[in-house]
Amino acid sequence: MTDCLFCRIVAGQIPATIVGETEHTIAFRDIAPQAPVHVLVVPRVHLPDVAALGDRAELLHAVVVEAAAVAAAEGLAAGGWRLIFNTGADAGQTVFHVHAHVLGGETLGALRG
Ligand code: 5GP
Ligand code: ZN
Repeated sequence: MTDCLFCRIVAGQIPATIVGETEHTIAFRDIAPQAPVHVLVVPRVHLPDVAALGDRAELLHAVVVEAAAVAAAEGLAAGGWRLIFNTGADAGQTVFHVHAHVLGGETLGALRG
């Protein structure tokens, strides 16, 4: 059994509120939302961060396309939304299975917290 939290969510071993599934990705609500809409989009395969995702063009594309689809489904297309990849310690990355944060549903604050 893997000890990667998001691999375990992908495998259905840990519950999550899933809002989208594709061949290459799943999207689920963040357990501690920082905006009215806060969804994480992850590739099904384990890659540690967006630098590694950048080496997998088809998966990078799938994650970004799914993020936009989630934003549209959540009603964010008109108002706008933010896509964030925290990468490494200085950015506060805590789960080392790459994930895109889709944030929206209100006027978002400054990029730096
Ligand atoms: P990071 O800080 O690595 O960019 O983001 C990790 C995110 O995963 C955080 O926003 C955190 O709230 C979320 N998270 C941590 N554990 C869980 C969990 O068990 N389920 C879900 N749905 N989200 C989680
Ligand atoms: Zn993983």
